[in-house]
Order: sequence, then structure tokens, then C-alpha cells
Amino acid sequence: MVVGAGPAGSVTAALLAEAGHDVLLLDRARFPRAKPCSEYTGPGSEAVLARLGVLPLVGHGIGQRLRGMEIHAPNGARHLLQYRDHAGPRSGLSLPRADLDAALLRTASARGAEIREGFRVGALQLADVSDHVDNGPPPSVPAVHGVVGRDAKGGTHAISARLVVGADGRHSIVTRALGLGRPVRWPRRLGLVSHYRDVPWPIDHGEMRVSQHGYIGVAPLGNGVLTVGLVRPLPPRARSLGSPAAALDQALREYPDLAARLARGRRVRPVHGVGPMAHAVRACGGDGYLLVGDAAGFLDPFTGEGIHRALRGAEIAAAAADRALRAGSDAAAIGAEYAQTRRALFGAKERLTAIIQLFVHAPALMNYVVERLNQRPVLAAQFANVLGDLEPPARALRPAYLWALLKP
Ligand SMILES: Cc1cc2nc3c(=O)[nH]c(=O)nc-3n(C[C@H](O)[C@H](O)[C@H](O)COP(=O)(O)OP(=O)(O)OC[C@H]3O[C@@H](n4cnc5c(N)ncnc54)[C@H](O)[C@@H]3O)c2cc1C
Repeated sequence: MVVGAGPAGSVTAALLAEAGHDVLLLDRARFPRAKPCSEYTGPGSEAVLARLGVLPLVGHGIGQRLRGMEIHAPNGARHLLQYRDHAGPRSGLSLPRADLDAALLRTASARGAEIREGFRVGALQLADVSDHVDNGPPPSVPAVHGVVGRDAKGGTHAISARLVVGADGRHSIVTRALGLGRPVRWPRRLGLVSHYRDVPWPIDHGEMRVSQHGYIGVAPLGNGVLTVGLVRPLPPRARSLGSPAAALDQALREYPDLAARLARGRRVRPVHGVGPMAHAVRACGGDGYLLVGDAAGFLDPFTGEGIHRALRGAEIAAAAADRALRAGSDAAAIGAEYAQTRRALFGAKERLTAIIQLFVHAPALMNYVVERLNQRPVLAAQFANVLGDLEPPARALRPAYLWALLKP
């Protein structure tokens, strides 16, 4: 069973169903549904979308391709991050989440998963730890046997499963019910997103503008729509910011020329706020459960991380779940190997993303970095490829590379 039909859940469900498992995919929403997101992902996501058969839709019904992202430092210096591999230039993808997620849900259904929309999971069915008959201490996380939730008509259902995949996002009930959440002290930021229409945007790339107090990402989504995502520190009392729309309008004052440009169009979607965005977990798999996508942790959207992590994470989650389901007759046990595979795949990028967070947080450092990117185009191109998940991130973490890029 998979809880949550965002990219992580739908892709995990599609791959498990294709591998011959009975899969039930539950989501509290009805699709297509909006998702607070700046909706940009690097070219590294293309391969997964191609494997799922969704890539041909990009530009023909879903979003558009972009030449890259232009970083604007607080002092006005700019650098356009562009991607390139042996075959030539590669593009980033600007993908309306309502369309992308609905397409991935259809893929899961077409590959054999049973879909139940409008079903909100409220609790897990857990093994009673007092029944633990081993000689050792009881496990710190009980085994999971299924979920309890409500359908759209208010009916309560208990559904058993050999494996519950928690793909239910930032505020995952699966993570919370198992007590696996680990708050992240820094960064503590609020994300505010919306769509604008009829804003003149003649360029074929997005912009990421960094200010004294955060940053704003803007990118065309196709059909005359711009996606706007603003990130700022989360004050101790978030209510002091007023409504999400008021908070966005106030924060836009830090970007006066962009605000003036947006004012030439109109906001066409309510402003959604999410905060704090960063969170972590202390385990991503165990007896009868597995976490994937944001449910397994998230830092910050500056590097367009989440969609790629959800898609690639789902591929390794499905492989781990497949092995566990074939191995056991009762609850499927997800072993340490899954966590190791995640670390091997995402660990270096997580470290790089944390370093980038330091730059985003310190305007003088960001000014310095953007100037160096402009002075060193070959190294800057490698950096763009790493951010776009085209090249292994370990390269950008090598001291020799960092020194060559950042030296005075
Ligand atoms: C402001 C902001 C901007 C971002 N911008 C970007 C960006 O530009 N690029 C990028 O790559 N990433 C970005 N991200 C991150 C990205 O949105 C996530 O990493 C990505 O959506 C994770 O996918 P997921 O499938 O794990 O979770 P989600 O997409 O959150 O899907 C989870 C699903 O679970 C369902 N669900 C939740 N609870 C329950 C329940 N109790 N019962 C049943 N169903 C449930 C929800 O309805 C939802 O459909 C951004 C995030 C934020 C907050």
C-alpha cells in the first residue's frame, strides 16, 4: 500500500504494480490537485520521466523546457546556470504540479495500481510491542500492519497491508505516527507560492533572485503562466505575517523591479504557504514500512531538489520494497540496505545543498560566488550540471574543485 500520490507515491506504486504486486495507492486529495511548489526540476529528472513514459508530454500539455536558471545575487550580479552533456545543451523542466502529478497518477493506474482518491489516512495499525517475544529489548519502532483512514463520505476503514509506503509528503502521517520525525534547527524558512498570468516574460529561462532575507524563484510554466515561489525566514510567530497573500505582497517589496513586473499581470491562484520546510527522519524503513520523497526528509527548494529526489527516490524505494515483499510471507521488512542506497544516491548532494544554504544565507558570500561563477565559465558549467543532476555531486565537493571555483 502506498500513502500519498505525489511524484514519490505514484512512481513507487507504478513500479511495484508493474513488478506484479497488488498495490493500493491512497491520497486525501482528488486529482488534479495543486501542490505548493516552484515547479522547476533540472535535466537529471528527464531520464526517470522518460522511463515512465511521461517525458513526451513535456511541452505538449505539461509545462515547458527552460534553458536554465539565472541566479541574481543581492548586489545585482547575475549568472545563468546552463546545462550541457556530451550530446550538447540540455534543458531544465518547468512542470505545473497539477498536470505532472495527475500524469504520474494515471501512469500508476495504467500499470495496475488501484487508486483511491479522497481517502485520508489518519493512523497506522501497529504491532503491540508488549507482544514482543524475543529475548532482546522491544523495537523502538513498532511493526506496521496497515492504515486506518476516512473516505470522502466520512466512512472509516482499516486496511491491512504487508508494507505501508509513506509517500505522504512534508507532514507525513506515516512518519509522525511512528515518531520518526527529526526537526531541523536550520534553516527554518517559510515558502510562499502562487501563479501569475499575463506577465511579460520574453526570456526562455527562470530567475532565482537572492536578497538580504531569502530568495524568490520565478519561471514560465507555459500557456502564459508564471510560477512564483518566495522563501523567507519563518518568524517565531508566523501569524504576525498575516495571510499568505499579505506575506507574499510584503516580501515582494524586497524585489521592487520584479514586483513591478508581476504587477503588470495578475495573480491567478491563491497563495499557499509552507513552513518550516526543512525536516529530517531518523529512519526511512523498517518492519512493514518505508518512507520516500518528502516524507523521508527535505531541506530547501533552492536547488530544485524535491521533484528529482521524489522521482529517483521512488525508483530505489520500489526496488527495496519489491525485494522485501518477495522475501517474506508476513510484514515486509525493509533493511538497512535501503538507507544505504539512499545515502549513496543523495548524500553528496545533500552536503552540497547544505553548503549552498550557507551562501544563500549570507548575502556577501552569494555576491562573491556569483562573481566567481561569471569569471570561471568551465567550472560554472560543471557546477550547473551537478545542480541539474547530470553529473555526480561528489565532483563539486572535491576541495580542489571548490578552491579552483571559489579562490579569490
Ligand atoms: C515552497 C516550495 C517550493 C518548492 N519548489 C520546488 C521546486 O521548484 N523544485 C523541486 O524539485 N521541488 C520543490 N519543492 C519541493 C517539492 O515540492 C517536494 O519535494 C515534492 O513535492 C515531494 O514529492 P512527494 O511525492 O514526496 O510529496 P508531495 O508532492 O507533497 O505529495 C504527497 C501527497 O500525499 C498526500 N497526503 C498527505 N497526507 C495524506 C494523508 N494523511 N492521507 C492520504 N494522503 C495524504 C497529499 O495529498 C499529496 O498528494 C518545493 C517545496 C516547497 C514547500
